[in-house]
Amino acid sequence: MKNLVLFGPPGAGKGTQAAFLKETYGLIHISTGDVFRFNIKNETELGTLAKSFMDKGELVPDQVTIDMLSAEVAKNLDSKGFIFDGFPRNVLQAEALDVLLDSYDTEISAMIALEVDDEVLVERLLKRGETSGRPDDANDTVVRNRIKIYYNETAILKSYYAAKDKYFGVDGVGSVEDITVRLNAVIDSLK
Ligand code: ADP
Repeated sequence: MKNLVLFGPPGAGKGTQAAFLKETYGLIHISTGDVFRFNIKNETELGTLAKSFMDKGELVPDQVTIDMLSAEVAKNLDSKGFIFDGFPRNVLQAEALDVLLDSYDTEISAMIALEVDDEVLVERLLKRGETSGRPDDANDTVVRNRIKIYYNETAILKSYYAAKDKYFGVDGVGSVEDITVRLNAVIDSLK
């Protein structure tokens, strides 16, 4: 299996690029944010819980997120692999992901990070908020809170995967097509 963590701060373009990668490599794309939003829309219990955190730009509690992710993986075990988008977001989640994949005799092949400057991110997210209907994109304070959490809890995962020789940084500024080409080059270079 080819299992990729698509990584980068909020607004880096993970969702946009994941849609291309999934087609090119035949992988299952799991976006934790999308799964939460689906649950919110359908007014499930998980959705109600997740919404209370997401609207403030905070992380949904780890165990809730890990259980949800495990269930998504379990549904797709016959696939060629996964693109994890929005997960893991902290070390505890990264460790849980390793344990989960190990239980299926597979592992993370690479973390590929889209690197984008903060000011570009805030601008992109607020712009997305004009049309996305996402409450967490609509307001400067919440957007900045999400970026702050990224630096406080998530960015450290770069060292987590670098220590295993699995970290690959990609310049996330440029046209969508150019960035796709950069990502494909990294993926094609993996064993
Ligand atoms: P973005 O990448 O633009 O921040 P996402 O759609 O990935 O947006 O996530 C939106 C929100 O969903 C996050 O701010 C957080 O509240 C929640 N969320 C998504 N993934 C996780 C996760 N792995 N752990 C905890 N909360 C998460």
